[in-house]
Amino acid sequence: MEKEFLDKMKETLIASKNEIIDQLTSNSSDIKHIIETMETKDSIDLASDTIDATLLDALSTKDLNRIKLIDNALTRIEQGKYGLCVKCGKPIAQARLEAIPYALMCINCKSEDERRNR
Ligand SMILES: [Zn+2]
Repeated sequence: MEKEFLDKMKETLIASKNEIIDQLTSNSSDIKHIIETMETKDSIDLASDTIDATLLDALSTKDLNRIKLIDNALTRIEQGKYGLCVKCGKPIAQARLEAIPYALMCINCKSEDERRNR
């Protein structure tokens, strides 16, 4: 995986995480305060930080899952494993990663997985 692509995906991941948090903070001053405190650290620390319990309460399961997936992807970038399918270990197509930056499986494994869970 090219460094340039990884940097781009990292930015995309952090941006989408901030977007989710922004939406949440727009209607709660408590959460806004928590986020502002978190933002005194740099964005990479923020990305890997454990999210405060108050914030967790305010998150819907769907948002939470997305944040977890994003954090997971950021960790995988740090570990140099980003873009490799967790199942077969083959590289995930860049077009797929651009569409779903936190994709963990290649399209083949993903569709196989979905077939089995149905
Ligand atoms: Zn695969």
